[in-house]
Amino acid sequence: MKKPKVVVLGAGYGGIMTTIHLQKQLGVNEAEITLINKNDYHYETTWLHEVSAGTLHHDRARVSVTDLINKNKVTFMKNTVTDINIEQKKVILKNNQEIEYDYLVIALGYESETFGIKGLKEHAFSISNINTARQIREHLDYTFATYNNLEERPEGMMTIIVGGAGFTGIEFVAEIANRVPKLCKEFDIPRDTVRIICVEAAPTALPGFDPQLIEYAVTQLERKGVEFKIGTMIKECTPEGIIVSKDDQTEEIKSQTVVWAAGVRGSHIIEKTGIENNRCRVKVGPDLRAPGAEGVFIVGDCSLVINDETDKPYPPTAQVAMQQGPVAAKNITTLIKGGTDLQTFKPDLKGTVCSLGHDDAIGVVFGRKLFGTSASAMKKVVDNRALFLEGGPGLLLKKGKFNFF
Ligand code: FAD
Repeated sequence: MKKPKVVVLGAGYGGIMTTIHLQKQLGVNEAEITLINKNDYHYETTWLHEVSAGTLHHDRARVSVTDLINKNKVTFMKNTVTDINIEQKKVILKNNQEIEYDYLVIALGYESETFGIKGLKEHAFSISNINTARQIREHLDYTFATYNNLEERPEGMMTIIVGGAGFTGIEFVAEIANRVPKLCKEFDIPRDTVRIICVEAAPTALPGFDPQLIEYAVTQLERKGVEFKIGTMIKECTPEGIIVSKDDQTEEIKSQTVVWAAGVRGSHIIEKTGIENNRCRVKVGPDLRAPGAEGVFIVGDCSLVINDETDKPYPPTAQVAMQQGPVAAKNITTLIKGGTDLQTFKPDLKGTVCSLGHDDAIGVVFGRKLFGTSASAMKKVVDNRALFLEGGPGLLLKKGKFNFF
């Protein structure tokens, strides 16, 4: 009998967890499992703010895909998915190669969402993957290295703007605030030459967080020299900086470094499939299957799961993606083995911790508010737990964060 073909797209949190569980549950004679990913490495997306700011080397944040999977059970293909033909059950790759599937797991992650703001795509950096993170780091290093070699410096050369004071924006701006004094020292630049500005359209930083935690975070970051512009919309990004507006007042802020960290959407590949979606995120069924697409499961940031208690979607997080993987794997295994009783996905959210640099953080874990070093230690526990789930004790020992205090 022909073995069913299971194809997993993306080796991020959702894709790698799905694959690891599929390889445990299905024997080589039961299914052909293929994992396709753009790069031959998996990266810790939740560490990209550190890579971008240059406080963590990019190699610490990535690991070879083949070190995480069982090569006897899973075929790994390094390639870029360009399209999915749902009717013909085929994945199309960059070299026009076509891969057939019986079961497909789409785990292609997120892309930056610029909400149509003029010039952002062209002139702002985004924290999207290892390469965009490395580009931000290199740009920062180059800017600091160039400063003292110029007779005339462009206005705003040493102004770093972060668009968005949500989770990612705050984590990134905190790393920047820690790194800038070191860069100033290294390149002999007075600290007061550098401005770090965080712009947020909402009436508060970290919308949705506990007000006491927000106040702590903002105060800590202001102490390190971060200027917040809250309730301020970025109207346009140009090669010279940004144009913002607040209360009908428009202001231009000159900058050579604008990092957009204020929005994400699912992969654009979702839009091409024709599956009903909202900003490239698909409202999946309770068993994580995509509506109207036979054999297709969606996990991670490309999926949208509604929280029944609030009737709102769960925010796209690694925590959710990592919990979805085992459920998708279990359900595919059940179907392959002829079962019909599929598992329902229900996120088991343990909390959220937002880092404020390597030594500070805020969070709510198991309903308890955490600040400072205890929150920071908890953040490292969360990061280490992800490594353990992905690659066991070996990966944890190799890449783990053990500098707790
Ligand atoms: P990803 O982990 O992004 O993986 C997608 C994979 O698909 C990548 O390997 C990519 O290379 C691959 N891919 C993409 N397109 C293609 C293609 N066309 N062809 C082939 N391969 C492709 N969440 C938390 O829970 N806690 C946190 O503390 C937290 N911190 C964060 C900090 C930052 C700076 C950022 C950016 C995000 C953070 N998040 C956090 C959110 C979290 O990282 C995402 O929700 C999570 O990565 C989603 O997992 P995923 O598997 O959907 O996608």
